Amino acid sequence: SADTSPIRATLFPGDGIGPEIAESVKQVFKTADVQIEWEEHYVGTEIDPRTQSFLTWESLESVRRNRVGLKGPMATPIGKGHRSLNLTLRKELNLYANVRPCYSLPGYKTRYDNVNLITIRENTEGEYSGLEHQVVRGVVESLKIITRQASLRVAEYAFHYAKAHGRERVSAIHKANIMQKTDGLFLKCCREVAEKYPEIKYEEVVIDNCCMMLVKNPALFDVLVMPNLYGDIISDLCAGLIGGLGLTPSCNIGEGGIALAEAVHGSAPDIAGKNLANPTALLLSSVTMLRHLELHDKADRIQDAILKTIAEGKYRTADLGGSSSTTDFTKAICDHL
Ligand code: NAD
Repeated sequence: SADTSPIRATLFPGDGIGPEIAESVKQVFKTADVQIEWEEHYVGTEIDPRTQSFLTWESLESVRRNRVGLKGPMATPIGKGHRSLNLTLRKELNLYANVRPCYSLPGYKTRYDNVNLITIRENTEGEYSGLEHQVVRGVVESLKIITRQASLRVAEYAFHYAKAHGRERVSAIHKANIMQKTDGLFLKCCREVAEKYPEIKYEEVVIDNCCMMLVKNPALFDVLVMPNLYGDIISDLCAGLIGGLGLTPSCNIGEGGIALAEAVHGSAPDIAGKNLANPTALLLSSVTMLRHLELHDKADRIQDAILKTIAEGKYRTADLGGSSSTTDFTKAICDHL
């Protein structure tokens, strides 16, 4: 676009390896001349009463204002009286959909070389509503909540995503043959939204069959949308198809168009501060952030440079069987740019 004023984005470097891999993203963006100005926020050392967690109110305000951000892994401190960091982010920012692009990385050999799918997970309800109780001794109950509002919202996002990214098909994953009311409502909402997108093919796949199809031939799928628990499981299964959590990006979509991208791995305390971490997942997450901002040129360039570096095989971090440091790997990506 003609407007070259920088876009402000919030950056949570996070804990453990977080700051090292966040540094890698900053360097790559600088080399690629991405017009983004980072507002950096660290997890606090004391509970902020306004958020009831170690996340500061200011950091949440920053995401609300910028509506776009990148988050490194966060280690939730153990102890009572505070909310988990990821839960705070999800609730406060109303992050209702978790989007995980999963594609084979050329040159990094796994069982499949033709994976190219997107999982979209409903992130606010289902079995994660936290409504569990004991009915009588020896009998407990957990409530699975499915609402029309949340189902329509995630289905709408899935079709919008498919259209915006030139995808052909959306598959709704369910178990409505058993969960007739809950998954039945989820499917009904998906069908309603599908009618508004006649150019996108729509299908419904029972989750057990979906798992079998995914491991037999992942190329059968394009965009998958599903309730919370199924999404939790299927998205990790898909990460496994391409080489594991160290490579998998994700992006959380919130109410009002907020996008908070994050790697799916944790803070890796065993290798923190040793310049050994693989920044690929966070880098590819930053690419999803650029795509959300419709900065496709920059996204393509950065993604190409990452994939080329991995394919070349000269510079790889230890988790991919190489011996490069985080900084050498990052430099190799910058050289490809
Ligand atoms: P982890 O993902 O941090 O580590 C699991 C293994 O994978 C470790 O051996 C680690 O060295 C390796 N690994 C992870 N990311 C890597 C990378 N980028 N490069 C190279 N190796 C990598 O999982 P964990 O040990 O179960 O969790 C550690 C901490 O992270 C915990 O405090 C947990 O709560 C937190 N966590 C945070 C998030 C998040 O913020 N989204 C997600 C998961 C775990």
